[in-house]
Amino acid sequence: MAERKKHEGDARFKTKVREGAYNVRSFLVHGRHTTGQWDFSHHVIPPLSSSVTYRLDSAGRGAMGFEGFADHDHRSPEQEPIFIYDRLDEPTRAMLEDHLAVAEGGEMAICFSTGMAAISSIFGVLLKTGEHFIAHQTLYGCTYSLLTSWMPRYQIDGTYINVTDLEALEASIRPETRVIYFETPTNPTLEIIDIGAVAEIVAKHNEGRAEEEKIHIVVDNTFASPATQRPLELGADLVVASLTKNIGGFGTDMGGVVIGPEKYETDFIVYRKDFGGALAPKTAWPILVYGLPTLDLRMQRQMEGAKKVADYLAEHPKVAKVHYPGREDFPWREQALKQMRDFSGEFAPGIIIYFELAGSPEERFDRGRSMVDDIAENAYTMTLAVSLGQLRTLIEMPSAMTHSVLPPEVKEGGGIDPGAIRLSIGIEDPNDIIKDLETALEKLQ
Ligand code: PLP
Repeated sequence: MAERKKHEGDARFKTKVREGAYNVRSFLVHGRHTTGQWDFSHHVIPPLSSSVTYRLDSAGRGAMGFEGFADHDHRSPEQEPIFIYDRLDEPTRAMLEDHLAVAEGGEMAICFSTGMAAISSIFGVLLKTGEHFIAHQTLYGCTYSLLTSWMPRYQIDGTYINVTDLEALEASIRPETRVIYFETPTNPTLEIIDIGAVAEIVAKHNEGRAEEEKIHIVVDNTFASPATQRPLELGADLVVASLTKNIGGFGTDMGGVVIGPEKYETDFIVYRKDFGGALAPKTAWPILVYGLPTLDLRMQRQMEGAKKVADYLAEHPKVAKVHYPGREDFPWREQALKQMRDFSGEFAPGIIIYFELAGSPEERFDRGRSMVDDIAENAYTMTLAVSLGQLRTLIEMPSAMTHSVLPPEVKEGGGIDPGAIRLSIGIEDPNDIIKDLETALEKLQ
């Protein structure tokens, strides 16, 4: 009988991708299904391995599993696995983590049940009572709620500033500051924070600080996704993202991830074990098999559509303001050009558009509402719904929906107009999206 041939090339290809011999795009299609931890070399599609608990063979082997859990050397893909229990570690989710780490240029990735579970783990792992974080003033509503409602209970203090103002950032750093947290592009206004510039300031302040007192730069990369921006390459310490959006891509599954250097792996995997927000393997599988391999393809197509739609809106007399990083008039164009790049290094301005209608604040609000209501009722190519990064174009009013929890002065400070509209462009024909926008805009008083 022919000997079973192990496809040991997998690890070799991962190294080649890391060395730049193959593009990350190709890795996300092929991935690797053979390591010491799992061997699915004869599966063309990696299997959905789903078992809550694992046979341990002997008490000694079980003890070894517990002892080695969260220890990177034991967890290393080159080691023989001792899987114990789904919440600790399991192969389908681990394959997704392996692939996500490569996509973002990190050494490790830990997946959570939602984006918010991943964001919570950042503050749970990196901060203790008495310590301090700095966050950009404009944040996704639930992140704002997490930081302002829950962190004070643990006497963890936060300062909210405009992080694009580097002097304000520098002035806000305290001896007990441990985290600088921001989204870039921000949700929903698409402000771009210069990650490299923040990293320079932080490096200066970290000089001479003990390891446990160092400041970490954490970037929520949900809007961009690794297909258009890789913050670790630009100086961030950790990336956090919702897998529910661009990476999952199809709008069928929720998930979150933290990605960064190996030295954080133990803390995040133990945190996940104890707080319990592990991504289910049945959810990891579609993200691994459908979402991540098609991420770049979808983003490229959606970006083409977004540019056309943004250009159309910007020319329309009833539209006063359009933010889209792909346009020359985008207020943070220079920073976007510097850091939003696809896997080939080409400028990649993303798939989200923020716009405001013309008129006084009251008129903008009334017009925004009636336009969105009209689209909800009559448009074919746009769906009124929160979330983003799906095949379908989604439209919403951030001030009243995703960012409703932000106090009015915070919205105003962050430039979120009460009548503003956010569009997440899908893969439809952009001419059809424009047709539906045209019909809605024509009706506006
Ligand atoms: N970060 C950003 C920028 C988001 O827009 C969202 C959700 O909209 C999240 C995090 C939270 O992700 P999830 O809904 O998967 O918990």
